[in-house]
Amino acid sequence: MARQQDLTELAKRRGFFFGSNEAYGGTAGFYTFGPEGAALKRNVEAAWREEFTHRLGNEEIEAPTVMPEPVFEASGHLDGFDDMLIECAECGESHRADHLIEDAVADIEDAEALGVDTVEELIGDHDLTCPTCGTALADEPVEDFNLMFETSIGPGSGQPGYLRPETAQGIFVEFPRLKEYARGQLPFGVTQIGPAYRNEISPRRGIVRVREFTQAELEQFIDPEEDEPPLDDVEDVEVTLYPATEQNADDGDYIETTIGDAVEKEIIESPWVAYFLGVAQGWYEAVGVDMDRFRFRQHLSGERAHYAADCWDAESEVGAAGTAARSASGDEEEPRAEGNWIEIAGFAYRGDYDLQKHGEHSEDRFTVFKRYDEDRTVERATVDPDMSALGPAFGDAAGDVADALETLAEEDPDAFDSDEVTVEVGGEKHTVDTDVANFAIEEQTEAGEHITPHVVEPSFGVGRTVYTLLDHGYSEDTVDTETRTYLSLDPEIAPTDVAVFPLVSNEDELLAVADGVADALRDAGLAVTYDESGSIGRRYRRQDEVGTPFCVTVDQDGLEGDDETSVTLRERDSAAQIRLPVDEVVGELDALLAGERGVRRHSRDVPHCRHRRDDRMNRRQPWQPGWATPRS
Ligand code: AMP
Repeated sequence: MARQQDLTELAKRRGFFFGSNEAYGGTAGFYTFGPEGAALKRNVEAAWREEFTHRLGNEEIEAPTVMPEPVFEASGHLDGFDDMLIECAECGESHRADHLIEDAVADIEDAEALGVDTVEELIGDHDLTCPTCGTALADEPVEDFNLMFETSIGPGSGQPGYLRPETAQGIFVEFPRLKEYARGQLPFGVTQIGPAYRNEISPRRGIVRVREFTQAELEQFIDPEEDEPPLDDVEDVEVTLYPATEQNADDGDYIETTIGDAVEKEIIESPWVAYFLGVAQGWYEAVGVDMDRFRFRQHLSGERAHYAADCWDAESEVGAAGTAARSASGDEEEPRAEGNWIEIAGFAYRGDYDLQKHGEHSEDRFTVFKRYDEDRTVERATVDPDMSALGPAFGDAAGDVADALETLAEEDPDAFDSDEVTVEVGGEKHTVDTDVANFAIEEQTEAGEHITPHVVEPSFGVGRTVYTLLDHGYSEDTVDTETRTYLSLDPEIAPTDVAVFPLVSNEDELLAVADGVADALRDAGLAVTYDESGSIGRRYRRQDEVGTPFCVTVDQDGLEGDDETSVTLRERDSAAQIRLPVDEVVGELDALLAGERGVRRHSRDVPHCRHRRDDRMNRRQPWQPGWATPRS
């Protein structure tokens, strides 16, 4: 697709991202963020942290990326974190079998949900061939391939370990300490931004599907019976939903609604998931994702990860030229622009799955103590086995028999109704006189109970967000009869705030003023680029291509005459310019970047998550009357 190639070429040429280790032939699935890309990514992470850690009142941690095998035995990743692999016998290339089906069969959007056997059959039925060499794949087996990178911890054979496939596990395994930090009070949220690793079968589309990527995750721990999200904060947020029912229906389409309405009509089952969709919608909009190329899609039942009870993805459409029409059905009145929908974040209701599993597999307690409003009197079945009778009867197994009687009393008190009771120890059945067990029902006073919290998880891919912002910001127009490419990035996340240019590089006075302007802007905390090489038009184009929202040019005209020194300030998207006194540059740019003239920084200073679609259309309009625009 031309658009994708243009973007990839720009990303490489201007230092956003490029394939890693190219000097050694390159390594598929690994990308390096260059100077512009790394700055953009850092700004996206900072904006995410501001919203999902600070504003929502959560705490951030940083856990190791290598974790020992038992963690992933417990989490289910060793058994269930697989993708469908098919290998070509002729050229040896590996492919995602489900993706081959999705690419070849028009009405199958989610082949993973069909299972390995069906996908294998479909590959035969549709005579699919290897995309690399064209050999028929009909006789090749489709297998589950575990995506985790294995490693060994310590010298020698060491201890088996894995690079974490999601940052989440680093939070779950530390739950016993984190709950202490939260003083055992639910709800609380823990965030983490860091690398995750998946040995993808076929990495593709640049940084969209890679083997090492950055996730920004929030694990919200809740008491499912008591805790409710602050839905009022997001109830008016407008969203485009694509629920599973609509995906399955022949004439299924998007549902345009509000978060409040979606909860009321149970389109989104979990109010917590709905709450985070509302917050995410506001955040994506604030960082500059085009809301006409954005939707929330519910996972189909076979698509969900092994831990998820329900899951919605945030998806963006990339590679589409112009504005995409909002129709899933492809009605003729609303023809869809060419583009691909990619998952940029997942919002999963993980229930008590993770904490329960770590509780079962480890020595620690993954529960919190939930205090009752008032003490409760409860009846408890107890045993007090007579060891002087069990010892002679069962020898070494007597202790285990006593423990088994205790467990049985808790689980099935009715078993003690008859004269004898039978328990199983090490696969062997032992029968005990009920009298010997000393069974009784006792009244006990309890102050509370240990509960396993449920987890709601918004999980963002940072690289895919960066890619979406580049794709949605990628623009072309004509300025001074020349075609130019510019990245219309939101000032909050643009790698550089302002570029300063002396018009010519051989005038000492001009260079001194330009230096002074650059220093003053740096002192004001802005990210500044200084460039004195090449024609001024070229320098503007260079900054346009990396999305720098403003340029300041110092020229001879501004230094001449009796008036105070003046400079030219140029805005990227409109290419409009104004002349202003040099002393006002810092204040003017600060005001522009902070939003006083229409360019909004982050959503801090506006009522959160309440933007209607009409507001969004007008959001990025730094243009003010009085500026001279050369756009043609
Ligand atoms: P998941 O745990 O699969 O829901 O992933 C959470 C998020 O991580 C996704 O929404 C993506 O944005 C991102 N992600 C997952 N896999 C990859 C990958 N191979 N490359 C880049 N980003 C990924």
